[in-house]
Amino acid sequence: MTVQCKYCEKRAQLKRPKTGHAVCKSCFCSIFEEEVHQVITEYGLFRKGDVVGIGASGGKDSTVLAYVLNELNKRHSYGLKLHLVSVDEGITGYRDDSLQSVKRNESEYAIPLTVVSYKELYGWTMDEIVKEIGRRNNCTFCGVFRRQALDRAALKLHVNKLVTGHNADDIAETVIMNTLRGDIARLQRCTNIVTGSESLEEGDLVPRCKPFKFVYEKEIVLYAYHKKLDYFSTECIYSPNAYRGYARSYIKDLERVHPHAIIDIIQSGDHMTARVDAKMPTRIECTRCHYISSQILCKACILLDGLNSGKPRLSLTKASRPLAVSKEVCSKKDKVSKGKECSGSCGCAEIQGNDINYF
Ligand code: SF4
Ligand code: ZN
Repeated sequence: MTVQCKYCEKRAQLKRPKTGHAVCKSCFCSIFEEEVHQVITEYGLFRKGDVVGIGASGGKDSTVLAYVLNELNKRHSYGLKLHLVSVDEGITGYRDDSLQSVKRNESEYAIPLTVVSYKELYGWTMDEIVKEIGRRNNCTFCGVFRRQALDRAALKLHVNKLVTGHNADDIAETVIMNTLRGDIARLQRCTNIVTGSESLEEGDLVPRCKPFKFVYEKEIVLYAYHKKLDYFSTECIYSPNAYRGYARSYIKDLERVHPHAIIDIIQSGDHMTARVDAKMPTRIECTRCHYISSQILCKACILLDGLNSGKPRLSLTKASRPLAVSKEVCSKKDKVSKGKECSGSCGCAEIQGNDINYF
Protein backbone atom coordinates (compact mmCIF):
# COMPACT_ATOMS: atom_id res chain seq x y z
CA MET A 1 0.00 0.00 0.00
CA THR A 2 1.32 3.43 -0.93
CA VAL A 3 1.56 5.88 1.93
CA GLN A 4 1.10 9.54 1.07
CA CYS A 5 3.41 12.26 2.35
CA LYS A 6 1.88 14.08 5.32
CA TYR A 7 2.51 17.45 3.67
CA CYS A 8 1.97 16.94 -0.08
CA GLU A 9 0.43 14.70 -2.72
CA LYS A 10 3.59 12.69 -3.28
CA ARG A 11 4.34 9.20 -2.07
CA ALA A 12 6.01 9.13 1.36
CA GLN A 13 9.59 7.87 1.22
CA LEU A 14 10.59 7.88 4.85
CA LYS A 15 9.34 8.03 8.41
CA ARG A 16 10.70 11.03 10.28
CA PRO A 17 12.74 9.72 13.22
CA LYS A 18 11.70 12.64 15.41
CA THR A 19 7.93 12.56 14.86
CA GLY A 20 7.18 9.30 13.06
CA HIS A 21 5.44 11.25 10.27
CA ALA A 22 5.49 9.72 6.79
CA VAL A 23 7.09 12.26 4.45
CA CYS A 24 8.54 12.53 0.97
CA LYS A 25 12.19 13.40 0.48
CA SER A 26 11.68 17.03 -0.52
CA CYS A 27 9.21 17.77 2.30
CA PHE A 28 11.63 16.18 4.80
CA CYS A 29 14.46 18.46 3.65
CA SER A 30 12.22 21.55 3.67
CA ILE A 31 10.91 20.80 7.16
CA PHE A 32 14.43 20.14 8.42
CA GLU A 33 15.59 23.55 7.16
CA GLU A 34 12.44 25.32 8.35
CA GLU A 35 12.80 23.95 11.88
CA VAL A 36 16.40 25.15 12.09
CA HIS A 37 15.26 28.57 10.84
CA GLN A 38 12.55 28.65 13.53
CA VAL A 39 15.09 27.92 16.26
CA ILE A 40 17.43 30.61 14.93
CA THR A 41 14.69 33.24 14.93
CA GLU A 42 12.94 32.13 18.12
CA TYR A 43 16.17 32.25 20.15
CA GLY A 44 17.54 35.29 18.31
CA LEU A 45 20.81 33.50 17.63
CA PHE A 46 22.13 36.03 15.11
CA ARG A 47 22.01 39.70 14.27
CA LYS A 48 22.46 41.27 10.86
CA GLY A 49 26.15 41.84 10.22
CA ASP A 50 27.35 39.07 12.56
CA VAL A 51 30.56 37.38 11.52
CA VAL A 52 29.80 33.74 12.26
CA GLY A 53 32.51 31.12 12.59
CA ILE A 54 31.28 27.61 11.85
CA GLY A 55 33.29 25.03 13.79
CA ALA A 56 33.93 22.64 10.90
CA SER A 57 35.35 19.19 11.52
CA GLY A 58 34.41 17.64 8.21
CA GLY A 59 31.95 15.33 10.00
CA LYS A 60 28.23 15.09 9.25
CA ASP A 61 26.99 17.56 11.88
CA SER A 62 29.21 20.49 10.98
CA THR A 63 28.94 19.80 7.25
CA VAL A 64 25.13 19.86 7.41
CA LEU A 65 25.30 22.96 9.64
CA ALA A 66 27.51 24.82 7.15
CA TYR A 67 25.26 23.84 4.24
CA VAL A 68 21.96 24.71 5.96
CA LEU A 69 23.23 27.96 7.48
CA ASN A 70 24.54 29.05 4.10
CA GLU A 71 21.17 28.29 2.50
CA LEU A 72 19.14 30.00 5.24
CA ASN A 73 21.43 33.02 5.23
CA LYS A 74 20.67 33.55 1.54
CA ARG A 75 17.00 32.56 1.68
CA HIS A 76 16.04 34.68 4.69
CA SER A 77 18.62 37.46 4.26
CA TYR A 78 20.14 36.99 7.72
CA GLY A 79 23.00 39.25 6.63
CA LEU A 80 25.67 36.99 8.14
CA LYS A 81 29.26 36.71 7.05
CA LEU A 82 30.12 33.03 7.36
CA HIS A 83 33.57 31.59 7.95
CA LEU A 84 34.57 27.95 8.34
CA VAL A 85 36.97 27.41 11.24
CA SER A 86 38.75 24.07 11.57
CA VAL A 87 41.10 22.79 14.20
CA ASP A 88 43.85 20.45 13.10
CA GLU A 89 44.65 18.36 16.17
CA GLY A 90 47.40 16.52 14.32
CA ILE A 91 45.83 13.05 14.20
CA THR A 92 47.24 11.13 11.28
CA GLY A 93 44.70 9.08 9.38
CA TYR A 94 41.78 10.97 10.85
CA ARG A 95 41.98 14.73 10.95
CA ASP A 96 44.16 15.03 7.86
CA ASP A 97 41.46 13.15 5.90
CA SER A 98 38.50 14.99 7.42
CA LEU A 99 40.17 18.34 6.70
CA GLN A 100 40.17 17.41 3.05
CA SER A 101 36.39 17.25 3.11
CA VAL A 102 36.23 20.66 4.85
CA LYS A 103 38.43 22.03 2.07
CA ARG A 104 36.02 20.66 -0.53
CA ASN A 105 33.12 22.30 1.37
CA GLU A 106 35.03 25.58 1.29
CA SER A 107 34.92 25.67 -2.49
CA GLU A 108 31.48 24.06 -2.87
CA TYR A 109 29.74 26.47 -0.50
CA ALA A 110 32.06 29.41 -1.24
CA ILE A 111 32.69 30.01 2.47
CA PRO A 112 36.27 30.95 3.42
CA LEU A 113 38.13 28.48 5.63
CA THR A 114 40.77 28.99 8.30
CA VAL A 115 42.61 26.07 9.87
CA VAL A 116 44.46 26.40 13.18
CA SER A 117 46.65 23.58 14.42
CA TYR A 118 47.67 22.32 17.85
CA LYS A 119 51.25 22.12 16.61
CA GLU A 120 51.33 25.79 15.73
CA LEU A 121 49.47 26.92 18.88
CA TYR A 122 50.88 24.56 21.50
CA GLY A 123 53.92 22.92 19.93
CA TRP A 124 52.35 19.45 20.21
CA THR A 125 50.21 17.31 17.92
CA MET A 126 47.70 14.84 19.35
CA ASP A 127 49.81 12.03 17.87
CA GLU A 128 52.74 13.27 19.99
CA ILE A 129 50.56 13.76 23.07
CA VAL A 130 49.15 10.23 22.82
CA LYS A 131 52.69 8.87 22.54
CA GLU A 132 53.45 10.66 25.79
CA ILE A 133 50.35 9.92 27.85
CA GLY A 134 48.81 6.84 26.25
CA ARG A 135 45.19 6.47 25.25
CA ARG A 136 43.35 7.03 28.49
CA ASN A 137 43.24 10.78 29.01
CA ASN A 138 43.96 12.01 25.53
CA CYS A 139 40.49 13.52 25.08
CA THR A 140 40.98 15.77 28.12
CA PHE A 141 44.03 17.35 26.48
CA CYS A 142 42.28 17.49 23.14
CA GLY A 143 39.09 19.04 24.52
CA VAL A 144 40.87 21.78 26.48
CA PHE A 145 43.15 22.62 23.55
CA ARG A 146 40.32 22.66 21.02
CA ARG A 147 38.18 25.04 23.05
CA GLN A 148 40.99 27.57 23.23
CA ALA A 149 42.06 26.99 19.64
CA LEU A 150 38.58 27.84 18.36
CA ASP A 151 38.43 30.96 20.48
CA ARG A 152 41.85 32.08 19.33
CA ALA A 153 40.94 31.55 15.69
CA ALA A 154 37.68 33.40 16.20
CA LEU A 155 39.46 36.40 17.70
CA LYS A 156 41.97 36.46 14.88
CA LEU A 157 39.19 36.41 12.29
CA HIS A 158 37.01 38.97 14.14
CA VAL A 159 34.30 36.34 14.40
CA ASN A 160 31.71 37.46 16.96
CA LYS A 161 29.76 34.18 17.13
CA LEU A 162 30.82 30.60 16.85
CA VAL A 163 28.33 27.93 15.87
CA THR A 164 28.88 24.24 16.46
CA GLY A 165 27.08 21.19 15.12
CA HIS A 166 26.13 19.75 18.53
CA ASN A 167 22.82 17.99 17.97
CA ALA A 168 19.95 16.95 20.26
CA ASP A 169 21.45 13.49 20.87
CA ASP A 170 24.80 15.03 21.93
CA ILE A 171 23.07 17.39 24.35
CA ALA A 172 20.84 14.66 25.82
CA GLU A 173 23.95 12.49 26.35
CA THR A 174 25.65 15.35 28.14
CA VAL A 175 22.62 15.85 30.41
CA ILE A 176 22.75 12.15 31.35
CA MET A 177 26.53 12.23 31.91
CA ASN A 178 26.39 15.34 34.10
CA THR A 179 23.48 13.87 36.05
CA LEU A 180 25.37 10.63 36.69
CA ARG A 181 28.45 12.57 37.79
CA GLY A 182 26.41 14.92 39.94
CA ASP A 183 28.07 17.82 38.14
CA ILE A 184 25.51 20.51 38.92
CA ALA A 185 27.55 23.39 37.52
CA ARG A 186 27.82 21.76 34.11
CA LEU A 187 24.26 20.46 34.23
CA GLN A 188 23.17 24.02 34.75
CA ARG A 189 24.58 25.17 31.44
CA CYS A 190 24.89 22.13 29.17
CA THR A 191 21.50 22.62 27.54
CA ASN A 192 22.00 26.33 26.90
CA ILE A 193 21.60 27.08 23.23
CA VAL A 194 24.03 29.99 23.57
CA THR A 195 27.02 29.74 25.88
CA GLY A 196 30.05 31.85 26.30
CA SER A 197 29.24 35.04 28.09
CA GLU A 198 28.56 33.60 31.50
CA SER A 199 30.37 30.27 31.81
CA LEU A 200 34.08 29.71 32.14
CA GLU A 201 34.45 26.49 30.28
CA GLU A 202 31.97 27.06 27.54
CA GLY A 203 34.00 29.38 25.36
CA ASP A 204 34.28 32.67 27.17
CA LEU A 205 35.87 34.79 24.57
CA VAL A 206 33.34 34.33 21.79
CA PRO A 207 29.71 33.25 22.35
CA ARG A 208 28.89 29.80 20.99
CA CYS A 209 25.52 28.74 19.61
CA LYS A 210 24.05 25.35 18.90
CA PRO A 211 21.44 25.80 16.16
CA PHE A 212 20.96 21.99 16.09
CA LYS A 213 19.93 21.80 19.75
CA PHE A 214 16.62 20.15 18.79
CA VAL A 215 17.81 18.30 15.68
CA TYR A 216 18.03 14.51 15.91
CA GLU A 217 21.24 12.87 14.82
CA LYS A 218 19.30 10.44 12.63
CA GLU A 219 17.70 13.33 10.77
CA ILE A 220 21.10 14.95 10.19
CA VAL A 221 22.29 11.71 8.60
CA LEU A 222 19.14 11.49 6.45
CA TYR A 223 19.44 15.12 5.38
CA ALA A 224 23.11 14.71 4.44
CA TYR A 225 22.21 11.57 2.51
CA HIS A 226 19.35 13.12 0.55
CA LYS A 227 21.31 16.29 -0.20
CA LYS A 228 24.34 14.17 -1.17
CA LEU A 229 26.62 16.21 1.09
CA ASP A 230 30.31 15.47 1.17
CA TYR A 231 31.43 14.59 4.69
CA PHE A 232 33.90 12.37 6.49
CA SER A 233 32.37 9.62 8.58
CA THR A 234 35.23 7.81 10.31
CA GLU A 235 35.63 8.06 14.10
CA CYS A 236 38.76 9.49 15.65
CA ILE A 237 41.38 6.77 16.10
CA TYR A 238 41.96 7.92 19.69
CA SER A 239 38.29 7.89 20.68
CA PRO A 240 38.12 5.89 23.91
CA ASN A 241 35.26 7.82 25.42
CA ALA A 242 33.63 4.78 27.00
CA TYR A 243 31.55 6.77 29.46
CA ARG A 244 29.89 8.84 26.74
CA GLY A 245 29.48 5.60 24.80
CA TYR A 246 27.29 4.17 27.59
CA ALA A 247 25.24 7.36 27.72
CA ARG A 248 24.86 7.18 23.93
CA SER A 249 23.63 3.57 23.98
CA TYR A 250 21.19 4.45 26.74
CA ILE A 251 19.77 7.37 24.70
CA LYS A 252 19.50 5.19 21.57
CA ASP A 253 17.65 2.49 23.55
CA LEU A 254 15.22 5.07 24.89
CA GLU A 255 14.76 6.57 21.44
CA ARG A 256 13.80 3.17 20.05
CA VAL A 257 10.85 2.80 22.41
CA HIS A 258 9.99 6.49 22.72
CA PRO A 259 11.48 8.80 20.05
CA HIS A 260 10.51 11.94 21.97
CA ALA A 261 12.78 10.87 24.87
CA ILE A 262 15.68 12.89 23.45
CA ILE A 263 13.73 16.14 23.56
CA ASP A 264 12.29 15.20 26.97
CA ILE A 265 15.80 14.79 28.41
CA ILE A 266 16.89 18.15 27.01
CA GLN A 267 13.81 19.79 28.45
CA SER A 268 14.50 18.16 31.82
CA GLY A 269 17.99 19.69 31.63
CA ASP A 270 16.45 23.09 30.84
CA HIS A 271 14.12 22.84 33.84
CA MET A 272 16.93 21.81 36.16
CA THR A 273 18.75 24.90 35.01
CA ALA A 274 15.94 26.99 36.38
CA ARG A 275 16.07 25.35 39.80
CA VAL A 276 19.70 24.85 40.73
CA ASP A 277 21.92 27.66 41.91
CA ALA A 278 25.46 26.34 41.60
CA LYS A 279 28.19 28.92 42.11
CA MET A 280 30.41 29.60 39.14
CA PRO A 281 34.15 29.98 39.67
CA THR A 282 35.68 33.45 39.64
CA ARG A 283 36.85 34.52 36.19
CA ILE A 284 40.42 35.70 35.94
CA GLU A 285 43.04 35.83 33.23
CA CYS A 286 45.69 33.18 32.78
CA THR A 287 48.91 34.84 33.90
CA ARG A 288 50.79 33.28 31.01
CA CYS A 289 48.64 33.28 27.89
CA HIS A 290 45.91 35.71 29.06
CA TYR A 291 43.12 33.32 28.13
CA ILE A 292 40.14 33.47 30.48
CA SER A 293 40.62 31.07 33.36
CA SER A 294 39.39 30.01 36.79
CA GLN A 295 42.97 29.42 37.98
CA ILE A 296 46.26 31.27 37.92
CA LEU A 297 47.15 29.32 34.82
CA CYS A 298 44.45 28.24 32.38
CA LYS A 299 43.87 24.53 31.83
CA ALA A 300 45.74 24.53 28.53
CA CYS A 301 48.83 26.10 30.13
CA ILE A 302 48.71 23.60 33.03
CA LEU A 303 48.44 20.68 30.61
CA LEU A 304 51.24 22.11 28.47
CA ASP A 305 53.46 22.45 31.55
CA GLY A 306 52.86 18.77 32.25
CA LEU A 307 53.69 17.77 28.68
CA ASN A 308 56.79 19.95 28.49
CA SER A 309 58.14 18.76 31.82
CA GLY A 310 57.48 15.09 31.11
CA LYS A 311 54.76 14.85 33.80
CA PRO A 312 51.53 15.00 31.82
CA ARG A 313 49.54 12.85 34.26
CA LEU A 314 50.25 15.17 37.15
CA SER A 315 49.02 18.10 35.11
CA LEU A 316 45.70 16.33 34.56
CA THR A 317 45.02 16.35 38.29
CA LYS A 318 46.07 19.98 38.57
CA ALA A 319 43.93 21.04 35.63
CA SER A 320 40.83 19.48 37.11
CA ARG A 321 41.31 21.07 40.54
CA PRO A 322 38.91 24.01 40.82
CA LEU A 323 39.88 27.24 42.48
CA ALA A 324 37.78 28.03 45.55
CA VAL A 325 34.89 30.12 44.39
CA SER A 326 35.02 32.39 47.39
CA LYS A 327 38.43 33.89 46.52
CA GLU A 328 38.37 37.39 45.14
CA VAL A 329 40.27 38.62 42.16
CA CYS A 330 43.10 40.93 43.09
CA SER A 331 42.38 44.44 41.84
CA LYS A 332 45.64 44.34 39.90
CA LYS A 333 43.76 41.73 37.91
CA ASP A 334 46.58 39.32 37.45
CA LYS A 335 46.38 37.27 40.60
CA VAL A 336 43.84 35.81 42.92
CA SER A 337 43.71 37.43 46.28
CA LYS A 338 41.94 37.11 49.58
CA GLY A 339 41.94 40.88 49.78
CA LYS A 340 41.47 43.73 47.36
CA GLU A 341 45.08 43.81 46.20
CA CYS A 342 47.82 41.31 45.84
CA SER A 343 49.79 42.96 48.64
CA GLY A 344 52.03 40.08 49.55
CA SER A 345 50.21 39.23 52.74
CA CYS A 346 47.43 37.47 50.97
CA GLY A 347 47.64 33.96 49.55
CA CYS A 348 48.56 35.12 46.09
CA ALA A 349 52.01 36.22 47.26
CA GLU A 350 52.82 32.55 47.14
CA ILE A 351 52.44 32.64 43.41
CA GLN A 352 55.85 33.29 42.02
CA GLY A 353 56.67 33.31 38.35
CA ASN A 354 54.41 30.83 36.68
CA ASP A 355 54.21 28.32 39.51
CA ILE A 356 50.74 27.17 40.23
CA ASN A 357 49.53 27.64 43.73
CA TYR A 358 46.19 26.33 44.87
CA PHE A 359 44.56 27.89 47.86
FE1 SF4 B 1 40.31 14.60 20.27
FE2 SF4 B 1 39.35 12.57 21.70
FE3 SF4 B 1 37.81 13.75 19.87
FE4 SF4 B 1 39.88 12.26 19.12
S1 SF4 B 1 38.04 11.55 20.22
S2 SF4 B 1 39.34 14.28 18.29
S3 SF4 B 1 41.36 12.68 20.72
S4 SF4 B 1 38.61 14.68 21.76
ZN1 ZN C 1 47.03 30.03 29.68
